[in-house]
Amino acid sequence: MCKSNTLAKLKIAQANKQNRLCFHCDFPMWDGDPAPFSERYHHFSGLLDRFLCTAEHLTPRMDGGKDTQENVVAACKFCNQTRHKMRNVLSPTAYRRHVRRRIVAGKWHPSECHHLLKWRSGGPSEVSRPLRTSDKAPLSAIQLSNGN
Ligand SMILES: [Zn+2]
Repeated sequence: MCKSNTLAKLKIAQANKQNRLCFHCDFPMWDGDPAPFSERYHHFSGLLDRFLCTAEHLTPRMDGGKDTQENVVAACKFCNQTRHKMRNVLSPTAYRRHVRRRIVAGKWHPSECHHLLKWRSGGPSEVSRPLRTSDKAPLSAIQLSNGN
């Protein structure tokens, strides 16, 4: 089995575990065909690309990170690329905190994407999915504890 195939499978498995939400920003992601995503969340042209589901290495491959379940999560293309564009790549926890803070401040995804979050947390019933509270603090909780 070729290596990229393993990674693709890992990505899908992790995405499903994460309810298809980005590991960092918690926005919904699409994989393969963008049409259903675009239909479900109202079409927004030019912005679909950033929500493509990608495999994110928590420890970057160049630092010896492996293609394993422990090291790979599903993240949207934008979060993934932005993290690795940083001069000092933040740790997953620090980056996640950074991303959530930026979202609350309206400085991450463009404001026309923010309805994705609303839909995700109890929008029209045909698109609402059971949300697991596991290790993810909902955005509203971060907002409350953040104070600024
Ligand atoms: Zn993201």
